[in-house]
Amino acid sequence: MHAYWNGEILPLDAVRVSPLDRGFVFGDGVYEVIRLYGGRLFYADRHWARLARSLQALSIAPAPDPAALEDALRQLIAKDGVEDGIAYVQVTRGAAPRTHAFPAPPVAPSVLAYVQPIPRPASIDRGGRAVLYPDLRWQRVDIKSVNLLGNVLAKQHAVEAGADEAILHRDGLITEGSSSNVFIVKKGIAFTHPATNAILNGITRQLVLELMGELGLPVVERPFSIEALWEADEVFITSTINEVTPIVAVDGIPIAGGKIGPWTAAVRAAFSDLVERVRIG
Ligand code: PMP
Repeated sequence: MHAYWNGEILPLDAVRVSPLDRGFVFGDGVYEVIRLYGGRLFYADRHWARLARSLQALSIAPAPDPAALEDALRQLIAKDGVEDGIAYVQVTRGAAPRTHAFPAPPVAPSVLAYVQPIPRPASIDRGGRAVLYPDLRWQRVDIKSVNLLGNVLAKQHAVEAGADEAILHRDGLITEGSSSNVFIVKKGIAFTHPATNAILNGITRQLVLELMGELGLPVVERPFSIEALWEADEVFITSTINEVTPIVAVDGIPIAGGKIGPWTAAVRAAFSDLVERVRIG
């Protein structure tokens, strides 16, 4: 397995990160996960746009050039022979003596990327199980930062409960999943939390909103309550890794009889078409 590290391609275990790197010390960095299908990048442009936004929000500069990153990823894909998987890209503020404020003058950001095969999760087809968990995170989760403790604790809670995902709630409202966005369908209308500072605006979420328009499913971007989740006709989550995954039970209780609903099936089919288009090239 190889990595791109500050302009070079080298074996992953040859990468040497400074103990003073602010990603390591403060979690002062951002990342992206891009899907690979058939060795091709899936909607990379949208990920580069979100990476640029995250970097700008934290004043990490200069941002790496997307064309150079894509070139590096293509080399890694070829070297490591990855077909279906992910590309991980991380940019931290760089290495500098420890003090909370940004280094002055600024130091060069640290840029890491690698690719990794990932099997298509079974929960996408069989339906996933979720548990509820309080949203303990900070108020700028729209920035895709490597500070993920709230997400890590939520996912661990899900794993220990034998579930696939934790659905987060704050003040009685569903925000998102620990690593996904959450949609419900009720009486032929879809609902999802709006893209505020309280969620990460998922690339899969954005694609699904567009697909819903094409499918003729009205969608309202408005926060919905825990009660609305329980009473939903359909629930599904979206993410780069888990695509469109139906949620068939929450806290062990079946949602709408534990069956995958017709709108979820339609969105899944439309999303699979996008995947096949990229896979074929
Ligand atoms: N919310 C959170 C907290 C996430 O970690 C992710 C996964 N990156 C998502 C939503 C889904 O985003 P995307 O569709 O871009 O993977």
